[in-house]
This record gives sequence, structure tokens and C-alpha cells, in this order.
Amino acid sequence: MTLEEMDSVLLKHKDMYMGQLFNFLKIKSISTDTGAIRQCAGVLKDDMEALGIRTRMMETDGNPVVYGELMNENNRFTLLIYGHYDVQAVEPLELWESDPFEPEIRNGRIYARGAGDNKGQLMAQLLGIKTYQKLYGELPINIKFVFEGEEELGSVHLPEFVDKNKALLEADLVYTADGSSHNSGNPLILLGVRGILNFEMTIKTADFDNHSGNTGNIVPNPVWKTIELLNTMRDENGNVLVEGFYDNIREPSQTDMRLLSSLPYDQKDIKEKIGFTDLNMDGETYYRKLTMEPTFNIAGMESGYTGDNAKTIIPSTATVSIDMRLVADQDPADIFRKIEAHVEEFDPDIKVTYRGAMHPSRTPSDLEIVQVVTDAVGEAYKKIPLVQPSMPGSLPDYVWTDYLGTPSIIMPYANFDQHNHSPNENLKVENFFGGIKCTCNLVKALGEYSKDS
Ligand SMILES: [Zn+2]
Repeated sequence: MTLEEMDSVLLKHKDMYMGQLFNFLKIKSISTDTGAIRQCAGVLKDDMEALGIRTRMMETDGNPVVYGELMNENNRFTLLIYGHYDVQAVEPLELWESDPFEPEIRNGRIYARGAGDNKGQLMAQLLGIKTYQKLYGELPINIKFVFEGEEELGSVHLPEFVDKNKALLEADLVYTADGSSHNSGNPLILLGVRGILNFEMTIKTADFDNHSGNTGNIVPNPVWKTIELLNTMRDENGNVLVEGFYDNIREPSQTDMRLLSSLPYDQKDIKEKIGFTDLNMDGETYYRKLTMEPTFNIAGMESGYTGDNAKTIIPSTATVSIDMRLVADQDPADIFRKIEAHVEEFDPDIKVTYRGAMHPSRTPSDLEIVQVVTDAVGEAYKKIPLVQPSMPGSLPDYVWTDYLGTPSIIMPYANFDQHNHSPNENLKVENFFGGIKCTCNLVKALGEYSKDS
């Protein structure tokens, strides 16, 4: 099978493939609309069954997971494809140039809510399999499908679902087509995510705000106390001083470092994009800091008065909201305990409130399977993929790497400017068909790999 043969199948079935995507996009499956969610899950199930995938709807305490299997006992390799069929809300509606649930093609782009995130990419994967079947019939690998309906709510029930169904979901590789490709237009392969820990610290010194003269030097100021506390937690170079914070951090491998230094880096362009003109570091440092190092970020502080008129008070309370991006293999629960211990030692009266967390994940970049996928993607796009050992943000990728113990690769099919979560979300037609072709070529490559190994 050649890429030209794939192209000819795509060309021949272009309208049918597009029609199937449009039907899917028309369903208003906003995560919180349970009626539309169920309708969408049903349509997805039918589409999957039409491909010969044994499909069932699996209930969670929230929206159902559409689970499918395409198995053949002669196959030695099992791929698990993950995606989501729920979409974000559409407001503000007046900023859309066309109805978000009436897909429309303009200037080579499919405009609709969910076009890029994630229905278009999900459908590209199904149609990639269909394309393979049309060319070859029987698949050379087993494929399992987990399509959830709560990703846009933060994948609330996915960890529990995966944990409960470990045996069912057993696979050799998890593959996700979600997110946006690189702005250079080169395919981007992501091997992990940073985790996150959110918490809040509240310092209360008096029952109410006090007169800053009448009680000055008597009632302690909670803002000063917050500053003192924060100074014990992080030094001026950004090092976190909480004991044991760095204990479990996995050192980047040589391959990780090589990949980081080969990512494109245009300092001037980045400066403009992030509005920070003082940026001054080389590309390798930039990517290492973004992907391999944790952060200690103050997201906000609240206390006292900052209005126009003088208000001479000693505030009674101060609250500081923190988020930390964590890297493999930091455990958010462990880090939170260490923070509690640190604060407790500073002052046991300070309240530390947990606000949520997500584990980091990282699939080792030197695994053979990573190279197999990278080659297959590169071949399909005729461009060398950029491989990033981790993305800076957070996703529940740990459910695959930690719960299943399976390597996980994220390969975004959507265009860089897909405007997901915003008005006029779109997927370039070229990216949709690129994704179909990429999936088809991946199935072929994994088949060859499992035969050889
Ligand atoms: Zn999204």
C-alpha cells in the first residue's frame, strides 16, 4: 500500500467522509446537555458499528464512555485510541459567523463547534481505519476505543473508569489526536504533560479589619505575614524551598534533551506572542523550563483595600491562590502534604485548602514505539515531526501511563489556529484529511512493526 493509494481512496470518498463528519458536528453535544450527549454517543456508536467495531455504551457517574473493540486473535499489537465527543458551550453566539451546529466550509475550513476539539480529530481516526479497511480489509493490529463525554468538564470520571476497567483496556500503546499542531505546520508529537496542584492559603490575624493607627504595631498584618511565608517557600531564583519538593523529579534523558534542543525557537516571535519583551534565553533552556521543570505560581492574592481613597486599615485576612505545575514523577498528593507540613511549621494557624490536582505523565522518548509512531507520522505528512517530551499544560494522560502502565502518545491533527473553545472554531479540510491519512498510515506501520518484533 502506498500513500498514493490512500490519497485515491480519500479522493473517492471525500463527500461521504465529509458527510459523516457533518452529521456528527450537527449534534449539540455540549458536556452539560445530557440529552444531546446521549444522542451523540448513540450516533458515534452507530458509526463505529458500521466499521465492524464491537461497541457499547459504558455508564459512569456522569456522561457515558463509548467503548469499542476491533479485535483479531492473530494480531499481536493492541492500540487504544482515546478521544472525546463532548464539546464546549458556544457563547458568545453573536461572534459566530455561522451557526456553530450547522457546519459550513469557508476558505478551506470547516466551521463548527467541535470541528477541531475533538469531533473532527476523533472522526479522522475512525475514517483512517475505514480507509485502511477499504484498501486492505482485515486490520493488522487490534484497536480499542475510549471516547468520553466529559473532557471539557475536566474528565471528571475518566480516572475512575480507567482504574475500574484496567483489564479491558489493556493495550500496547495509547494514541490521542487532540489539541493543535505546531504553528510551523510541522506535525507535533507530545509524549506527556505537566501535572498541576491547586491550593489556597489563608492567613487570619484578627476577627475584623482594624484602624491602622489605633491598633498599629499591635495587630499583626496578614499581608506581611503572607509575604514572609512565601519567602520561606521560594527563593529569588525560583527554587522551591519546601523540603522534599524536588525528590521525585525524573531527570530528562539524553534523548529528551536532544529533542528539546531541536524544537524550533524564534525568540523574537515568542516575545511578541507572550507580551514579555525581556525574554532572554536559548531554546533548549526555554523548552526545558516549560516541560521538564515544575513551577510555583501565585495566581492571585486578596486582602485589604486598594481603591482610590485612602482607607487606613490593618486587614484581618489575606488569601493567596497557588498553582504548581508538576513534572514526572512528582505526586500531587505527596507535594501537598509537604506543603502542609511546611506551612504548619511556619504557623499552625494558617489554613491550607486543597483545590484540585492532576498527575503529570511522561512516556520515555527513547522507546522503540515512539520512533515507530514518529516515522509513520512523518511519512504520512512528508514532513519531519517535532517531538516534544512533554507539553507545558495539563491533561489526564496519567490514567494511561500510570493506571494502565502503557506508553501514551498525543498527536494533534487540528490546525494551530483552530479557535477551539472560542467562536468560529474550525478545522482545515486539509487537516481533516491529513489526520485520516496519518491514522491509516499509523495502522499500517504498527502492523509491520508487530510482525517484525
Ligand atoms: Zn477542549
